[in-house]
Amino acid sequence: MISEKMKPFMANNSAIRAMFEEGKRMAAVYGRENVYDFSLGNPNVPVPQVTEAILDVVKNEDFMTLHGYMSNAGYEDVRQTIAESLNKRFGTNFSFKNLIMTVGAASGLNIILKSILNPGDEVIVFAPYFVEYNAYVRNYDGNVVVISPDTETFMPKLDEFEAKITAKTKAVIINNPNNPTGVVYDEATIKAMAAILEKKEKKFGTSIVLISDEPYRELAYGGIEVPFVTKYYHNAVVGYSYSKSLSVPGERIGYVVIPDEVDDSAALIGAATIANRVIGCVNAPSLVQKVIKYCIEHEVTVDLETYEKNRNLIYGALTEYGFTCAKPDGAFYLFVKSPVENEKEFCEVAKKHHVLVVPGSSFACPGYVRLAYCVSYEQIERSLPAFKKIAEEYGLCK
Ligand code: PLP
Repeated sequence: MISEKMKPFMANNSAIRAMFEEGKRMAAVYGRENVYDFSLGNPNVPVPQVTEAILDVVKNEDFMTLHGYMSNAGYEDVRQTIAESLNKRFGTNFSFKNLIMTVGAASGLNIILKSILNPGDEVIVFAPYFVEYNAYVRNYDGNVVVISPDTETFMPKLDEFEAKITAKTKAVIINNPNNPTGVVYDEATIKAMAAILEKKEKKFGTSIVLISDEPYRELAYGGIEVPFVTKYYHNAVVGYSYSKSLSVPGERIGYVVIPDEVDDSAALIGAATIANRVIGCVNAPSLVQKVIKYCIEHEVTVDLETYEKNRNLIYGALTEYGFTCAKPDGAFYLFVKSPVENEKEFCEVAKKHHVLVVPGSSFACPGYVRLAYCVSYEQIERSLPAFKKIAEEYGLCK
């Protein structure tokens, strides 16, 4: 019954989800407050203005607008509001025509990949990376080409990147700020990547699409700038999601931006709009599109300070105990070096102390583990003695 293409997905079902399920099981046995679950990137900071926005929209929009079909690209007024907000923030020149509303970042990536990939085309990703990229690329019979991690900085290894671009390279996916490392690629890095891509496009006579996956764009700390890629490279598209910036991942809402400067821009916008329909999304949820418009007009966004406080607490404590990790400038993850080579073994030891973390091999970067600190400050505080004991067990404490 099950297709050959689907079988590997079932065999490798997400380790993150598995750990999350384990957390639920352990909470039932030991009590929720005694289990320190850092496995899932599920935002934990409510944004009450979203509820106000929903009530306002439900009260003021007519029934068919709230619940009806619209263009597969989404409501024009919503897209125009987003375009103007981007133009104001980043000095770009988008109109609603450059935007397609999507069912989160996941479907945004899917509609771009569906629009551009032929079987055998290559898509470059930088380890460690969000493991679902493998599935998205395989959906359209593309091949993932992995650039090995620079475990000192977790910035992209540009020499290897340049060497691995071939005539078959159709796209490059970056994720900024990054899941799982929390690193933010700076302007110099984006400019260097753009220069390499332009050189290779000329060499091979091809178009290479730089896809910037940005669900964590708004989660950048200390005023650090997240460069807007379309300003640096002509074939750049952006996939955005409100899952994290409004704490609404279950609502499934985001967008893609395809600038006029992209090769065959009108065709790509047309293809991606149709892709939205034919992959089965049809259009992004209608009511939530209007909620997004309200949120932009009322400048609603998640309280960043809560995540920043969490980051400071957990990063400060873990490094004090002797763990090694890059200081995250964005997102809500910490990527910690495992004290033993096999990080799955480390995950098991952590589990004995009721600490749940995800092995780095789930992000194509073994030897590390990911902690999602989108949990309560109190959970982090309660978990610290357990982290200290783990550090002592491995002789990390100074
Ligand atoms: N890309 C990255 C890097 C993510 O971390 C996630 C979700 O955690 C997604 C894409 C998917 O986002 P969404 O839930 O908005 O589809």
